[in-house]
Amino acid sequence: MNQTLTERAAQPLTTLSEDEEMFRASVREFAEGELRPRVEEMDEHGKLDPALTKQCFDLGLMGIETPEEYGGAGASFFTAIVAVEELSRVDPSLGVFVDVQNTLVNNALIRWGNEEQKKKYLTQLASARVGAYALSEAGSGSDAFALATRAVEGDDHYVLNGRKLWITNGNEAEIFIVFANLNPEAGYRGITAFIVEKGFEGFSVGKKENKLGIRASSTTELIMEDCRVPKGNVLGEVGRGYKVSIETLNEGRIGIGAQMIGLARGALEAALRYTSEREQFGRAINDFQGVQFQLAEMATELEAARLMVYNAARMKDAGLAFVKEAAMAKLYSSRAAERISSKAIELYGGYGFVKDYPVEKFWRDSKIGAIYEGTSNMQLQTIAKMIIGGK
Ligand SMILES: Cc1cc2nc3c(=O)[nH]c(=O)nc-3n(C[C@H](O)[C@H](O)[C@H](O)COP(=O)(O)OP(=O)(O)OC[C@H]3O[C@@H](n4cnc5c(N)ncnc54)[C@H](O)[C@@H]3O)c2cc1C
Repeated sequence: MNQTLTERAAQPLTTLSEDEEMFRASVREFAEGELRPRVEEMDEHGKLDPALTKQCFDLGLMGIETPEEYGGAGASFFTAIVAVEELSRVDPSLGVFVDVQNTLVNNALIRWGNEEQKKKYLTQLASARVGAYALSEAGSGSDAFALATRAVEGDDHYVLNGRKLWITNGNEAEIFIVFANLNPEAGYRGITAFIVEKGFEGFSVGKKENKLGIRASSTTELIMEDCRVPKGNVLGEVGRGYKVSIETLNEGRIGIGAQMIGLARGALEAALRYTSEREQFGRAINDFQGVQFQLAEMATELEAARLMVYNAARMKDAGLAFVKEAAMAKLYSSRAAERISSKAIELYGGYGFVKDYPVEKFWRDSKIGAIYEGTSNMQLQTIAKMIIGGK
């Protein structure tokens, strides 16, 4: 045991095991071969290519941590992080598609689902059906527990009424984790998590958002009008949905960190390539020290962000407390991604400002990192609470 710990402690954070390395290589091959040729068109049309989403299932990317007995790969959380990073290096939209499935939906079911729910839903989510995670509403974002969706108990079912907003994968998903309040007088202690299927009576998908970035990732409204949910579909305990949401999002944030470091890597690699090819004053522009120093700053910032994301993920896998590190990783990596992709545009000059080159998209995509799964202010609030103590 001590030997193993010592050996592990001696490993650099960025050293991957043989399995992790093979997995990374296979995701990269998919991202380069299948995803890259489709990125521009998917961004333009605001839609993921269904052929790609199917391939995500075929490659085992939709049930990475799901135990093998439920059809998943039974791999670590870190492995899911590697997948999100590699996909986001080419397209952060497909990155978040896979991220939400693994770090929010599967994760919530693995952690809180009973045996029957796991058998039914984890199996479907690993093989063919897309999931979504529905907490936010028009009136409750940062103040998530002020949600207005209500659940009322019937004989063998609950009846849900309300609207969710901004739901990632809303158009592709068939299985939704929906948060509703069963007992508003009890405040957040009335919040309960439900597993809702697209086909349930009274459930429909509303308007799709037309977005600045991650345009191919669908973001939709969900509408529940007397939506009947069987009693067996309560996820975790009645009145403990707040705990399900907080704890799932704590882990999910590391996934957003992975999306951001993948994106930043894509932007930096593009800038490295371009500055070696573009000539001005009779030389490649990366011959100028001014350009070299900017590339060096970008690489350093990315390295710091990557270490923070990897560390938070490894801490989670090791069963250590990771909430502060996850918040820091998301905060820092989203800022790094925005700065690195912005600088990449400038290094491309005028070519960086047009859609024929990939960097303007990376910058547009980077903005979401400071917003979803808790805005940057909310991450600062979490970090402050943990370093100062509860107030
Ligand atoms: C593309 C996209 C995808 C999304 N996907 C999902 C999803 O799959 N599931 C889901 O449930 N939600 C999703 N969301 C919602 C997202 O999590 C919320 O947008 C986010 O939590 C912020 O909430 P809000 O938009 O209501 O902003 P608000 O909470 O209104 O915040 C507005 C501003 O006020 C600041 N602010 C608010 N309160 C405080 C405070 N106490 N102290 C300091 N500053 C404060 C915020 O930091 C922010 O700058 C998604 C959003 C987008 C845009």
